[in-house]
Amino acid sequence: MKAMIGLETHVQLRTATKLFCGCTTVSREPNDNVCPICMGYPGSKPALNRKAVELGTQIALALNCRVAPEMWFSRKSYFYPDLPKGFQITQYEVPLASGGLAEPVLCGKKAGIRIRRVHVEEDPAKLEHEGDIMTAARSLVDYSRSGIPLCEIVTEPDFESPAQAREYLEWLLSLLAYLEVIDPRAEGVMRSDANISLDGGERVEIKNITGTLMVEQALKSELNRQIGFANLGKKVARETRLFDGATGRTVTLRKKEEEEDYGYIFEPDLPIVGMDAIAEGVGKAMREMPEVALARVERLGVPRGLAHAVVYTPGMLAYFDECSGGYGKPDELARWLANDFLKCMHWNGLEVRDSPKPELIVELLGMIDSGEINERAAKDVIKEMFAKGKGAREVMGARAAGKGESEGEVISGVIRDNGKAVSDFKAGNARALQFLIGEVMKKSKARIDPKRAREMLVKQLNAGPG
Ligand code: ADP
Ligand code: MG
Ligand code: ZN
Repeated sequence: MKAMIGLETHVQLRTATKLFCGCTTVSREPNDNVCPICMGYPGSKPALNRKAVELGTQIALALNCRVAPEMWFSRKSYFYPDLPKGFQITQYEVPLASGGLAEPVLCGKKAGIRIRRVHVEEDPAKLEHEGDIMTAARSLVDYSRSGIPLCEIVTEPDFESPAQAREYLEWLLSLLAYLEVIDPRAEGVMRSDANISLDGGERVEIKNITGTLMVEQALKSELNRQIGFANLGKKVARETRLFDGATGRTVTLRKKEEEEDYGYIFEPDLPIVGMDAIAEGVGKAMREMPEVALARVERLGVPRGLAHAVVYTPGMLAYFDECSGGYGKPDELARWLANDFLKCMHWNGLEVRDSPKPELIVELLGMIDSGEINERAAKDVIKEMFAKGKGAREVMGARAAGKGESEGEVISGVIRDNGKAVSDFKAGNARALQFLIGEVMKKSKARIDPKRAREMLVKQLNAGPG
């Protein structure tokens, strides 16, 4: 039996503002970022966010699509509480781009997945039902989501198994994260409709599945249902279904006869945008594709796992390239970046761009090579470099000071913090001095030896007031 699977995937484009208004795309609580445009007030006029068009074009080019010479929008009309205007602004007749090809490795084999279309549209508002969607007494609406820019990527039915579909989505996610056209950490960054048919039978569409694993689960369950039908000699009906993650089954949402008529019409409030110049500009600024970068980094002698981390950690490839300009051992560099560097970055809640400058990492690695610092100590130093935003030499300098000059500080600290022992000492109690020496040893982590501690303590205690 042969399955045919096609995916329609929505991703949230990484823009600061919404698709047709100036509201920010970051929402902290429901309905905090809204205006007359994204609330659909009568008489409000949309204005197109150029950045969203550019990001969509980047996706289209990365998927080897042809970009249409002109882009324009249509109104998709339907009546539902998530859509106060009564229509969604989307693209229908002519998408931003079409006729593409994706060539990820799926289930261990290089695949050729044809991309039917790529288009840009606005997200409707988000509904929150009190309980189950079918039985909820009340539903709440969050218009902060309304007008968030989405890009829809539609494949031809070229997947043969649920696992292939999942691996494609994982590949797509990392590609788009690499291109920085999405924020992979954004909530609901990817949603898919999955279409599946068996042996030339009718196709079933499973709507609105979040994530990648859920898509595989939904398809598996639907595939099993269709295989069951085939075994009984029953025909699968063309319908739209929903996947219930809790039961692991798909259920009917609507039959073909109930499919809505969206009555698409041209959106007159938005301009027709000439795409040639935009596509050319985006094409020129396009980074090398991640597979190409991966091969390049591997050719430098970096093992695959490390190369993967370097390429797919947002911002790290450029950082790696800058460092390797000044440092001759790419594999060592990658090892540091993919391990201690990454850990320190996460601990400090930083991104690559806020991390210590490339030349500071080059300096640290050079110090290891010259034997100025051993690897164990370097692991501590890099932590401080992140925490304090300082270079290795500066960190080491402060530490060296901790060994010599600021012995004085350790001693004064112990004297300051142990008033009772100090007065006991001054009253002639020798055991109090032993105690203070012990404190100095503790505080300096035995860096200051007992003899030296005694000398310095006595000197300071005798010089001090009282
Ligand atoms: P619609 O316009 O109704 O959404 P499309 O023909 O545009 O339908 O296809 C939507 C999705 O369904 C595409 O991803 C496509 O690959 C997939 N699809 C089309 N035909 C089949 C089929 N026979 N089996 C599985 N998926 C299919
Ligand atoms: Mg569809
Ligand atoms: Zn708005």
